[in-house]
Amino acid sequence: MNKLIGASWKMNMTPTEATAWFAVAVPELVSITDRELFVLPPFPALAAARDALRATSIGWGAQDVHPDESGAHTGDVSAAMLADLGCHYVEIGHSERRRDHREGSELLAAKVAATRRWRMTPILCVGERRRGSIEEATPTIVRQLRGALGALPPAELDEVVVAYEPVWAIGVGAAVAPADHIAAAHRLIRRWLEGRLATRVSVIYGGSVDPSNAASILCLPGVDGLFVGRAALDPRAFVQIAGTKCIEEEG
Ligand code: PEP
Repeated sequence: MNKLIGASWKMNMTPTEATAWFAVAVPELVSITDRELFVLPPFPALAAARDALRATSIGWGAQDVHPDESGAHTGDVSAAMLADLGCHYVEIGHSERRRDHREGSELLAAKVAATRRWRMTPILCVGERRRGSIEEATPTIVRQLRGALGALPPAELDEVVVAYEPVWAIGVGAAVAPADHIAAAHRLIRRWLEGRLATRVSVIYGGSVDPSNAASILCLPGVDGLFVGRAALDPRAFVQIAGTKCIEEEG
């Protein structure tokens, strides 16, 4: 399985800035053929992603979705709309949405279901808020997995990507989580998935990934890829991360 490396721009990049980002990154990214790549712009820049990535195998998608098909939900966007635009991925349950919009398990499960109804890939973010041991983090991670994915049949579960994003390792002022913590969390997530007969799920790590630490994280056992926030706002940094080789892959 190729490593999966993606970026979420969060609430950054106008459509004009997005077009400029793609103009720099795409000519480089298309030569990286041993990775699955994706980019998640904010809603207004999705059309720029569609136009820039049309003739490539680079995936793209949205940072959120409403669970209903249509209706009286001013300001929201449905899975049908995203699928019609051509999105491949939908990010669900990022800690900033859990925090800012009080998104909980029931809503997140409905978003996952809506995304799968339209045959897009949900990227479910899970992760504990406070820095501590993996034993302390386990109940939160398992509760978030069970809450959003517990009702999915195994065949559907295999179509999901899980992003392990410890909240304390995300954003300005944070630092990447320690290697043993990342490996243990990925082991826990993998065990939970395998307990539900899902064996093909990519489990990727997010939290202060940058070009200087990408290789060491990518080499960790159980890490199927990287999810990049801040560093990916610089197209050259994302290209560097996307082309990062794990030591095991070299030679
Ligand atoms: C994120 O918020 O999903 C993220 C990975 O952010 P950063 O890389 O900026 O820590």
